[in-house]
Amino acid sequence: MDLGIRGKRALVCASSKGLGRGCAEALAEVGVDLVMNARGAEALEAAAAEIRARHQVSVTTVAADITTEAGRAAVLAEGPFDILVTNAGGPPPGLWSDWGREDFIKALDANMLTPIALMQAVLPGMMAQGWGRVVNITSVSVKSPVPVLGLSNSARAGLTGFVAGTSRQVAGKGVTINNLLPGIHATDRAIALDSAVVKARGITMEQAIEERAATIPAGRYGTAAEFGAACAFLCSQHAGFIVGQNVLLDGGATNATL
Ligand code: NAP
Repeated sequence: MDLGIRGKRALVCASSKGLGRGCAEALAEVGVDLVMNARGAEALEAAAAEIRARHQVSVTTVAADITTEAGRAAVLAEGPFDILVTNAGGPPPGLWSDWGREDFIKALDANMLTPIALMQAVLPGMMAQGWGRVVNITSVSVKSPVPVLGLSNSARAGLTGFVAGTSRQVAGKGVTINNLLPGIHATDRAIALDSAVVKARGITMEQAIEERAATIPAGRYGTAAEFGAACAFLCSQHAGFIVGQNVLLDGGATNATL
């Protein structure tokens, strides 16, 4: 299928590895020029070089912390953008009783206020040109709270509320905003979460992965490539009537009818 977005320009945040990288790869594969971002310059440059070589698209890199005002200003200076994929690292695991105000502010900054600030910056240009696509990488925790990820449960719920309202206010100008909700995917983040289980329960990494995979009807972790393909479709010409949705990619792990 031709996604019809060849030559468009995308900002993909937090994209040197993992799900962001999967989105960058999938967009590049269909001819989208990229601005890629991550804090670590080395991995970012390596990812950009691989994508340029593989897909012959233009890739600009901005090594910056997207959760800071200076970092956002640096990536936004590379605009304008037709497509925005928001992403940042997830908050640390813990218990509901562990966190104080500063922990919440940090999680809200990273996983709610940063994507909101990025949308506020790019939406006017997208609306003025009559076309735009925004995909926010959120989490399965929006639909089904993850007990050890209370900070994520909280911050992402706030972002989801903002998107629900805003997506309906910009759709008339040809701009769609949707959220992709990853369940467990085989990335560094999953390794970090599984390592916490290994430490807490004194089991091996293999056991931790096997136990978690057994809770997923698909029987395995998702891949960054299949996540990226879903993102590219939401950014495509064909997805113009998909507005304000929260799309689960979790191998069936969330046991719900709707
Ligand atoms: P990952 O494998 O750890 O990759 C994170 C990527 O984001 C790296 O490229 C990292 O590079 C970059 N990054 C992290 N913090 C950043 C920041 N402040 N500014 C700029 N770049 C930053 O993580 P992932 O698995 O792809 O997860 C992506 C998001 O999906 C996270 O918010 C995570 O909580 C959420 N999620 C993941 C899963 C899963 O199973 N993987 C499930 C549910 C939700 P640098 O470290 O160099 O900056």
